[in-house]
Parts: sequence; C-alpha cells; structure tokens
Amino acid sequence: MAKPLAKSVSAQRYAVIGGGWAGCASAMELVRAGHAVTLFEAARTLGGRARKVEREGLVLDNGQHILLGAYTETLRLLKLAGQDPRALILNLPLQMRYPPNSGGMDFIAPRWPAPLHLAWALLRTKGLQRADKLSLMRFSSAMRWMGWQLYNDCSVSELLERFDQTGRLIKLMWRPLCLAALNTPPERASARVFINVLRDSLGASKRSASDMLLPKTDLSSLFPDAAARYVAQHGGAVHTGVKVDALIPLPDGRWQINGDDTYDGAVIATSSAQAATLLQGLQDERSSAVIEQLQAFTPEAISTCYLQYDPSVRLDLPFYALADAPEIGHWGQFVFDRGQLDTSQPGLLAVVVSASSQAAEQGHATLAQAIADQLAQVLAQAALAQPLWTQVITEKRATFACTPNLQRPGNASGIDGLLIAGDYTASEDSAHDYPATIEAAVRSGVQAAAQLSRQK
Ligand SMILES: Cc1cc2nc3c(=O)[nH]c(=O)nc-3n(C[C@H](O)[C@H](O)[C@H](O)COP(=O)(O)OP(=O)(O)OC[C@H]3O[C@@H](n4cnc5c(N)ncnc54)[C@H](O)[C@@H]3O)c2cc1C
Repeated sequence: MAKPLAKSVSAQRYAVIGGGWAGCASAMELVRAGHAVTLFEAARTLGGRARKVEREGLVLDNGQHILLGAYTETLRLLKLAGQDPRALILNLPLQMRYPPNSGGMDFIAPRWPAPLHLAWALLRTKGLQRADKLSLMRFSSAMRWMGWQLYNDCSVSELLERFDQTGRLIKLMWRPLCLAALNTPPERASARVFINVLRDSLGASKRSASDMLLPKTDLSSLFPDAAARYVAQHGGAVHTGVKVDALIPLPDGRWQINGDDTYDGAVIATSSAQAATLLQGLQDERSSAVIEQLQAFTPEAISTCYLQYDPSVRLDLPFYALADAPEIGHWGQFVFDRGQLDTSQPGLLAVVVSASSQAAEQGHATLAQAIADQLAQVLAQAALAQPLWTQVITEKRATFACTPNLQRPGNASGIDGLLIAGDYTASEDSAHDYPATIEAAVRSGVQAAAQLSRQK
C-alpha cells in the first residue's frame, strides 16, 4: 500500500483531472506535500461514481454504498479532511442477516477480538446446517494456511467448488458477498481479488477491519466536499463544472490545460474509458500499451431502487440481505433503511442490485414494482408493495467486471509527468489489488500522488 507523502522540498504546480474519490485523494496528498494543486471536475458535483444526486426534493446518492473497516486509506483521508467517521458513519459488526422466516440465515459477529468473533458468530448462526458451518470453517482455515494467496487465479465459483463449499453457503453467503464486493457474479469473478478482500476483512488480525460502515450523510459531503475544502485551505484550487478536453504537452516538459494555465505534471483521475480518451488525444506512442489496457475493461452495472413509504415505516435492522431470484422477479440483494442512517429520510428504503444489466432491462417502473413486491413478501408486510414513489438509478458503468487474471495498468501513463489514478489501477503489490471500490480509488489516488512527487 502507498505510504503517505512526506513534505516536499521543491513545490511544484500540479493538475488533477477528475474529482471522484481517487482525484480528491490525489489532490489532498499533493497539497499536503506542499505542492500547488488545481483539481478539475467536469460535473457540478464532486464524487464521481460515489456522489450525491437530488431527486424528489431529497438528497440521495447515485447508489447506496457500504464501506468496510478495512478501508484504511479512506478512513485516514476522511480524518485528514477534518471529518469525524464516528459521527458520519454507522459502524456495524460484520453480518449477513436475512429477514426472519424468509429462508435465509442470521449471522452476526460479536465485537470480540479476531478471529474469536467469527468463530462465535458461526457457532451461533441460524439458518445454516452443520455441514455448511463445517465447510465454512474448512475454507477459512485453508485460506489462513495458504496465507490468503492464490498463485493461479480462477473464478470464485471454481474456488468454492475446490473447497467443497455447500450449495446453501454459496447461495446465502459467498454469492452475495462476491456480488457486493466485486460487482461480478462468482462464475466470472476473480478468486484472487475476492481473497484479497476476505484477507483484509474476515482474515484481519483486528476485528474492526471486518466492520461494515454505512454513511449517515450523502457521499459527496462525506469525503469529496471535505477534501475540496482541505485542498483550498492548503492553497489549492478546485474547479467544478470544468471538463478538461485539451491536455497539451509543452516543449519544456510542462502541461497546458484547456489552452490556459500550465502545470509541472498532472494526474488523470477519471474513469478508465475517459483516461483512454485523454491519453489518445496526446498521440504519444509511449502510452499505447496503457491505452490498450484501459480499453480492455468491461463495465458492470449497479442499480439502486429507492422506495419511499410513509415515514412511520421502519425496518428492524439498518439493513438486510435478500435472497435474489430473478426467475421469480426477486431482483433485490440488499435493502437499507435510510431512515436509520439519516433522520431526514424516514420511510425511505434503498434496495441494491449488483451486476444489474439484466435487472435494468426490465425497465425502471417494472423493476421498482418487482422489488416492492419482493419486499412485501420477504418482510411479510403487504403495505410495502405500494410505495408512495420510487426512483431507480442505474449506473451502467458502475465498476469494471473483476474477472480472473485481469491485466490492470499501474499509475504510470508511459509519459513523464503524467500519472493515471482510479479504482481500476493495479496496486504496487498485487496482493493488495482490490475490486472497483472506494478504497481502491483512494489508494490509487494516494499512490499516483506519491509517484508524481517522486518523478520531480
Ligand atoms: C451504484 C454504485 C454502487 C457502488 N457501491 C460501492 C460500495 O458499496 N462500496 C465501494 O467501496 N464501492 C462501491 N462502488 C464503487 C465506487 O463508487 C467506485 O469504485 C469509486 O467511486 C470510483 O472512484 P474514481 O475516483 O476511481 O472514479 P470516478 O468516480 O469515476 O471519478 C472520475 C471523475 O472524473 C470526472 N471526469 C471525467 N472526465 C473528466 C474530464 N475530462 N475533465 C474533468 N473531470 C472529468 C468524472 O466526472 C468523475 O467525477 C459503487 C459504485 C456505484 C456506481
């Protein structure tokens, strides 16, 4: 993992292109090291794929997000930006809890030291048979024995088969975990990256790494807006609503942006597709291999369905896992009670569908009604079939499909003074490669800032 930057002796002028979580992290790290930074964000709102949106007079998110205690760099930068995670994030112990009597399981880890918390949780889990529990215990001891490393990558399904995981455990735990973490179904998901996430959460020596963190505020105010304030307080500038479409190398090695100011270097912190477009515009052979890798990612969608009910509607827990069964119209995989996170949103539920291209094909109205019917059935409350209003947000390019042996570029663009950052880049050490997540984006931004500073 990238080390935080030390204070620089020779301050440079840098541009960061893209105000998602990667770009905000880069900009913070660069100003912290004493550089002059300008952050450009094409949209009016900071946050990129983890940002606020305004609908029906409410401030929502473009998608319900869940963070993990293992997101160490994200939590470090949140604090550096002046945010108090304890006030802004609901911290829940590791859990996989289905609504009672819905045919699921009820697994919740006590707040005990690791790995005792998992052993106890497993012992107490309802809805799993002895064979399921034994297969889970075998899996986790095998992973520890292997040092949570897989030399030959394969699909998550193959991995689970190799370790004789029972059908019920796969359905109720491994598949939902894989979808939530990698946004890729187990049949197509990388076992190596899945194990990296498991190692840093379930396998971590600190119990808090496996905690599940739910933002209590909108995603833009949680970090990107605070990062922008930090950048401004440290002499930097943040321009929203400014798309960079002309990035011109100057003969003296500096960069001109949009025909205006010049910079000693830049971090392209856009999505992989947008980074490919910007690099292609340079027509520089040195970045052709990176462009090829950037263009090879395939996108996966995520849909979030918001359902507004009477303010008195409240779930018994802040969130539940749901068993998805598309063949009977049960698309929802997790349901969150937003009213328990944000007091201004009573009666608002958010249902997440990962790897949602098939679900999104149903059309938003049909999908929302199917989800409302699913909630009514599994939560045994007929009234949930009739929300006051619904809003489906489908992000077609939410993440890249995290498939086995995926070739990911590092932060180098191939061209001096120009770095790339985003959730798609490889870590400096492949054991730390993460799926497309907030933590992957933040780590990549921190890593790009460190490399840019080292180049000068
Ligand atoms: C619906 C949904 C649910 C998700 N759930 C989770 C979750 O539960 N947990 C989790 O950890 N992760 C989750 N993710 C993934 C996470 O949101 C992303 O991995 C992360 O936000 C990516 O950040 P980024 O900075 O790499 O890229 P982006 O967020 O894509 O940021 C790139 C930014 O660059 C800007 N830009 C592009 N081109 C230009 C240009 N030419 N000039 C200026 N600006 C430009 C864009 O507008 C954008 O703001 C989810 C994503 C989605 C969409």
